[in-house]
Amino acid sequence: MGVFNHPEFDHHDSVHYFEDPASGLKAIIAIHSTALGPAAGGCRRWTYASDDLALTDVLRLSRGMTFKNAIAELPFGGGKAVILASEHAPKSTALFEAFGRAVDSLGGRYITAEDVGISVDDMRTVGSETRFVSGLPQRGTGAGGDPSPWTALGVFRGIEAAAAVRLGLDTLEGITVAVQGVGHVGVHLCRHLHEAGARLVVADVNKGNLKRLCEQVPADVVSPRDILFSNADVLAPCALGNVLNSETIPRIRARIVAGAANNQLASVEDGARLTDRGILYAPDYVINAGGVISVAYEYLGNSTEERVRSEVCRIPGRLRQIFADAESSARPTNVVADELARNIVEQGGQSGETNRSTADRRIA
Ligand code: NAD
Repeated sequence: MGVFNHPEFDHHDSVHYFEDPASGLKAIIAIHSTALGPAAGGCRRWTYASDDLALTDVLRLSRGMTFKNAIAELPFGGGKAVILASEHAPKSTALFEAFGRAVDSLGGRYITAEDVGISVDDMRTVGSETRFVSGLPQRGTGAGGDPSPWTALGVFRGIEAAAAVRLGLDTLEGITVAVQGVGHVGVHLCRHLHEAGARLVVADVNKGNLKRLCEQVPADVVSPRDILFSNADVLAPCALGNVLNSETIPRIRARIVAGAANNQLASVEDGARLTDRGILYAPDYVINAGGVISVAYEYLGNSTEERVRSEVCRIPGRLRQIFADAESSARPTNVVADELARNIVEQGGQSGETNRSTADRRIA
C-alpha cells in the first residue's frame, strides 16, 4: 500500500521509517500536524500481521493525537510511533536506545511517551538517547510518571458526565459498567468506578491482568467475545481500537459508550450508527486526554500534580459541550468533536505562534 494515497493519510506532515538491524528495531513515526506545536503522542509496541496494518494504525493514532491535543488546549501537534514487535525483536535496552536515537533524529518535531506495550522504564531507556521524551518517573510533587492513572481519572469523570446527560443520574451508584481491557488504564478506571458504587463487568485476554483486577475490586468476569454486548448501562472500551463497527454496534446493549481506547470507531460512519441506536458516544480522544495532559505538563516543566488534576477535570465540561452541540445540531458526537478539533488546528495554524513557541522554547 502506498503512503500518499493511503485512506488514512489525511495530509500528514511526514511519515518516517526506522530500522536498526543490531537491536531488531523496526518502527514508524507519523507526524500528522505541527500547526499547534511539536507533535506529541505515545509509542505503541504491538505485533502487526503486516507492515501495512502498522502504517494504518500509526496514521490513525497520529491524527487522533492532533485532535486530542487541540481539544485539550495543549501547545502540541499530533504524532505517534509504533514499534513492530516480533520474536526477532524482543524488548531490550538496545531496542529502546535505538528507538530513542530515531526520535532524536527528528530534532524535536516529535515527542514520545508511553502507549500500549510500553512502560515507564522503557521510556527511561529512550530518554538516555533523546530529550524529546515524556512520561518519565515522577520527581517530588511535579507532574510526570505513568500517564495511565490520569487517563483513567478523565475517563471516570467523563462517564459521570455522560451518565448525567443520557441517564439523568448525578451518581454512578448502582449502575453497571462493562470494561473491555483491564490493563494500565482499565484497572485504575475500575477502582474509581467501584469506589463510586458502580457494578463492574470485565473481560481481558490477559489472565494475569484479570487476576490482578479481581484481587483489587469485585467484578463479574465475562469472555472477551461477550463483553461488548453485556447487559450494562455503560460500555467502556479500554483495550484496542476498531471495536465499534457495523458488526458490533447493532448488538451493543449499553446506552453509553465511554472508554479509554484510541480509535474506537472503525469508521466515521460508525458514530452515526451509534447515534441512530440512541447510544451516547463520548469521543475517544476527548475523554481519554488525561494521559497526554500529564505528559504534556511534565514535558513543559514547572507543573504540579494539582495543575494536572485541574486540567484533567476539565474533560467532563468539554464532553458536556460536545453532547449539547450534537443534540442541538442533530449530529453524531464524533462529527461535532472532529469539526471542533479541525477548527482549533486551523485557527492555531494561522495565528498559533504563541502556542507553538511555548513548547518550542522547551525544546530549544
Ligand atoms: P494496556 O496494554 O496496559 O491494556 C490493554 C489491555 O487490554 C490489556 O490488559 C490487554 O490484554 C487487553 N486486551 C487486548 N485485547 C483485548 C480484547 N480483545 N478483549 C479484552 N481485552 C483485551 O494499555 P493501556 O495503557 O491500558 O491502554 C488501553 C487503551 O487506552 C489503548 O487503546 C490506549 O491506546 C488507550 N489510551 C491509553 C492511555 C494511557 O495513558 N495509557 C492514554 C490514552 C489512550
